[in-house]
Amino acid sequence: MVMGKIHELDTVLADQIAAGEVVERPASVVKELVENAVDAHASQVDVLILASGVQSIRVIDDGDGIADEDVLTAFKRHATSKITSRKDLFQVRSLGFRGEALPSIASVADVVMATSTGTSGTSIHYRGGKLLHQAPAPLRQGTDITVTDLFFNTPARLKYLKSPQTELANIVDVVNRLALSYPKVAFRLVHNSKELLKTAGRGDLQRVIAGIYGVANARKMVAIAGNDDDFQLKGYVALPALTRSSRQYITILINGRAIKNQQLTKAVIQGYGSKLMVGRYPIAVIDLRMDPLLVDVNVHPTKQEVRLSKEPALAKLISTTITARLADVNLIPSALTNL
Ligand code: ADP
Ligand code: MG
Repeated sequence: MVMGKIHELDTVLADQIAAGEVVERPASVVKELVENAVDAHASQVDVLILASGVQSIRVIDDGDGIADEDVLTAFKRHATSKITSRKDLFQVRSLGFRGEALPSIASVADVVMATSTGTSGTSIHYRGGKLLHQAPAPLRQGTDITVTDLFFNTPARLKYLKSPQTELANIVDVVNRLALSYPKVAFRLVHNSKELLKTAGRGDLQRVIAGIYGVANARKMVAIAGNDDDFQLKGYVALPALTRSSRQYITILINGRAIKNQQLTKAVIQGYGSKLMVGRYPIAVIDLRMDPLLVDVNVHPTKQEVRLSKEPALAKLISTTITARLADVNLIPSALTNL
């Protein structure tokens, strides 16, 4: 009998391959860890970064924590507490559900995690996919995870990283978007002991916007609200006088997830009609709520792209809501803000 040529990859290698999709750069690690904190109902999330995340990324939350007996499982691929059945996959209400982040990150970095559900705690240490240490750890409730030496065993990835400034800008962008998505969570982002963002977690979106874009800019933004049978829309949009040269200041949130979607971004711009100069774009935060059945988030490993089943109707709601609100502003210029 001839020996076959095909064999299953060992788990560490399989995890590293998966990591290629989920963990592109330091900002991807920050995104996955902060999303886990949010999914764990944290009210406070601290993100501490050294050297643009290449040296160290630490995320501390006061969320649910992981039970002792679950800690090893959490680092296995396709292990998740967030969905169980096929039905759940079409009604995802959490940010995570693929069970890929922890094993992926642990396969390409050094990871130390201490986690506690309040009754007991565990600390665990992985490096390059190998479990090095596990021990009981007394701790206040929540999770404290530190990722160092990112991509130490995947030199191509390390080489592909952009400048420290660019990598840091990506991290800031990720945390900003999560802060805009969850005004009720208090976020703190610190880079090399410099505080880059701090939100109060009091649920006031306009204050989060002020923390990110500055108070003066937040004052030049107006609240919008609208809905139809399928969608609820809330948010803030800049007056036409406050513009930027890039679309990246338009944030679209769907059920608490910041997504990238050209059609919806276009709808925001269309809402301004002829009020924007060519090449100028508004600052906007569009918070959309809908039945999870209308959104397929299982399109891409990083979940930044989603498939919407009623996209044209949603685009129309966005543009007409903005158009109507801005027409309003012209009539009553004083009815702006209370920041
Ligand atoms: P996913 O988020 O898709 O479920 P992850 O690999 O990111 O997959 O995490 C695996 C599991 O570990 C999660 O389902 C969750 O139960 C647990 N977990 C991860 N991070 C945290 C955290 N900060 N707090 C509580 N539980 C966590
Ligand atoms: Mg996750």
